[in-house]
Amino acid sequence: MSWKDNTRKVTPYVPGEQPKAGDVVKLNTNENPYPPAPGVADALRKLADDYAIMRKYPDTNATSLVDALSEFYNVPSDNIFVGVGSDDVLAMSFLTFFDSDRPVLFPDITYSFYEVWAETFRIPYKTVALKDDFTIDIKDYEQLNGGVVIANPNAPTSICLDIDSVEKIISSNKDSVVIIDEAYIDFGGVSALPLIDKYDNLLVVQTFSKSRSMAGARIGVAFGSPDIIASLKAVKFSINSYTMSHDSIRIGAAAASLNDRSYFTETVDRIINTRTEATRRLTEMGFEVLESSTNFLFAKHKTHKAVDIFNGLRDQNIYVRYFDKPRINDHLRITIGTPEEMDKLYSALEEILNR
Ligand code: PMP
Repeated sequence: MSWKDNTRKVTPYVPGEQPKAGDVVKLNTNENPYPPAPGVADALRKLADDYAIMRKYPDTNATSLVDALSEFYNVPSDNIFVGVGSDDVLAMSFLTFFDSDRPVLFPDITYSFYEVWAETFRIPYKTVALKDDFTIDIKDYEQLNGGVVIANPNAPTSICLDIDSVEKIISSNKDSVVIIDEAYIDFGGVSALPLIDKYDNLLVVQTFSKSRSMAGARIGVAFGSPDIIASLKAVKFSINSYTMSHDSIRIGAAAASLNDRSYFTETVDRIINTRTEATRRLTEMGFEVLESSTNFLFAKHKTHKAVDIFNGLRDQNIYVRYFDKPRINDHLRITIGTPEEMDKLYSALEEILNR
């Protein structure tokens, strides 16, 4: 007998590499290539004057952040939950809502953290195969379950499910909580957020990490009925009530981002334009590119192996994402960077494909 026999064994989620070297083109973790809204810098400067606040514990409800979100999305505060990135929000949601003997359903190809949380929390789950074209068949979600999780748009496929189909999944599962993970929704597709008034089993999760360029600030949000939000808070506060740092640290930055609507639209549009161009260029080079509603592309080359292209790019300090998993090990996931970064990618790809 050893302490090791009493230790929870988990295989952690493996995030994309964060290389230390300066001169790299990093297209592997779906970060936004543009800085956050300029007002964020002013907010952080103000924080320096207010540094003594660190002495105190923060407001567990992150009230001013929630109020700013409430105003921006025109949703009452008791419909809003905030966490340390959407990973924290999702993990807390798994723990809160998936307490059934029935399996939680999610696609076989989706954000791989879902499986890790289910394993970590010992939640029974069943993966549902996407169709051959990587789209969702909504009928697959009309079986008994202990919950449903859909990333929409999906990752790493970049494909978006239309809002009517999303609503059908929610309405046919009224006895389970349905989580719609909208990490990439601002780059395409229609949000399920307005449906929270109609379905009390719906939780919509969003993040400041992608369209708002604030992955490092770790701000995730969930929207749902007051009951669902109250349940989520009860579990969250039963683990650690102080996970969010002081409002003055996050709120200034988050509010500055929310307030600057034109900067937001401008950077999202730039990424969408670069995405259109990238789809064209990669298709010309012999890639089959799925239609993306996100800030990344999921592409397969007609003749060259994904792993060889991945390694060839890496040798040139260009990082994209390769998943050594069944059904998708012939694909690469490429985050949309700046036009300059994408030019470096195209030149490197041309060289690798012509070797
Ligand atoms: N959901 C999906 C589908 C994602 O791709 C990511 C980013 N890896 C997240 C959630 C988590 O993002 P964050 O914790 O930065 O909000």
